[in-house]
Amino acid sequence: MSSIQVHGRCHCGEIEISATVDSDKVMACHCSDCQTFSGAPYRAVAMVPAEEITITGQPTEYVKVADSGNRRFQAFCPTCGTQLYAADSEKKIYNIRTGFLDAVAELKPAKHIFAQSAIGWVHDIESQPWFEAGANSAPCDPKSGRAR
Ligand SMILES: [Zn+2]
Ligand SMILES: [Zn+2]
Repeated sequence: MSSIQVHGRCHCGEIEISATVDSDKVMACHCSDCQTFSGAPYRAVAMVPAEEITITGQPTEYVKVADSGNRRFQAFCPTCGTQLYAADSEKKIYNIRTGFLDAVAELKPAKHIFAQSAIGWVHDIESQPWFEAGANSAPCDPKSGRAR
C-alpha cells in the first residue's frame, strides 16, 4: 500500500476536494447504480475516512435509499454536474470519484466489484479501434495514445 495525496476540482471550479488516499482502497464498481449515476459503463472510487478529506464549496447531495432502507449520499456539483463522492448516512467514509482528481492515472483500481452486472466488452477494450483524439483523428496504439 502507498499513500497518495490527491486534489481535484469539478469542471466549473466551484468545488474542490483534497484527500489522502490509500492505494489499496481504490476500486472500480460495475454495479447498475454506478452505471446510472455516472452515465458511464462503470465508475472508479477511492474510499477515504472523513478525517482524510477536505471539501471546499457546497456539493448537492442526493440521498439514495436502498431496498434495505440503507441511505447513502451521492454528491455532485450543482452547477456543472461533476460527480464528487458518495458517503454513508453518518458520513464516516467517503467514496471519492477518481475521474476529476489530478492523480487519476495513479489511482489504479486494486479491485473490481459487482462483476455480476459488469458490461462484457470492458474486458476487450484494448482490442477495439482507438484514435488519438476525436473520431476522425489518427488510429493509434491504445496504451501510448500515439499513432502507430
Ligand atoms: Zn462544478
Ligand atoms: Zn457501484
